[in-house]
Amino acid sequence: MTAPIVHTLAELRQMTRGWQRAGETIGVVPTMGALHDGHLSLVARAKEMSDRVIVTIFVNPKQFNNPEDLANYPRTEHEDARKLERFAVDAIYVPDGPQMYPDGFATTVSVDGLTNVLCGAHRAGHFDGVATVVTKLFTQTSADLAFFGEKDFQQLQVVRRLARDLDLGVEVVGCPTIREIDGLAMSSRNLLLSDKARSRAAALNDVMEEMAEALGQGKDIADLLPEAKGRLAAAGFGDIDYLEMRTKDTLRLIDRATEPARLFAAAYMAGVRLIDNIDVPVAD
Ligand code: AMP
Repeated sequence: MTAPIVHTLAELRQMTRGWQRAGETIGVVPTMGALHDGHLSLVARAKEMSDRVIVTIFVNPKQFNNPEDLANYPRTEHEDARKLERFAVDAIYVPDGPQMYPDGFATTVSVDGLTNVLCGAHRAGHFDGVATVVTKLFTQTSADLAFFGEKDFQQLQVVRRLARDLDLGVEVVGCPTIREIDGLAMSSRNLLLSDKARSRAAALNDVMEEMAEALGQGKDIADLLPEAKGRLAAAGFGDIDYLEMRTKDTLRLIDRATEPARLFAAAYMAGVRLIDNIDVPVAD
């Protein structure tokens, strides 16, 4: 079944008001399109947990700190609608730029603390852009539930915080990272890699898995970093923005896995910035 593609807030509200009057819960899956199985796993979860499901597709200019990255971001709307067919979602909301940011738009939602590290430290303004658009999408869709991937773990924590701080009444559901067979986390950006770069990119997850195992055995990350970075360089990775272990809830930097933690990485393969994060078992 082809879901209705809705471009305006007025049309969307007409639908959501009817659902709310009928006492139905609304689940929203915010995306920037170029859908892959990672996104679709969120849609599947949303279908299980909500009466009505809205998938949003909006390549949000405010969260790109680099104009070239925004221009190159893959856009595959027809394919996206086709991939969503089998899920029978209730609406695909595809607002245009002026619908989200009309002339004179002057409000920014900014989450403190959690956004000063990791991607926030390397992508100026990125999380303000994310927090602002997510807040708008939550209010526009009248969401009761919202589904986000652990692939973007920092984003998930930022969204949880803003939903709580602003009393948005949205339950934020985190969903596990879906990977390619060789372990590479699925990402719309993988489409930008050549075949050669794509196959080399799997080294990121390999290296991280080995590090997480050693960290879980109580090793200090400082002792693991030289070899890990050497292996990434040998695989063809260029700049590494970060390769760090942080606590799960507050994203505080730690050297040893003495509390629930994740290992985070962002590194460039052939000019494409790839990110990943995985769970680290607590060391005895
Ligand atoms: P994006 O279109 O990249 O903004 O992603 C939209 C949503 O899909 C975000 O909540 C992401 O965390 C999630 N997502 C992206 N890639 C994956 C993946 N490989 N596994 C699970 N969720 C993902």
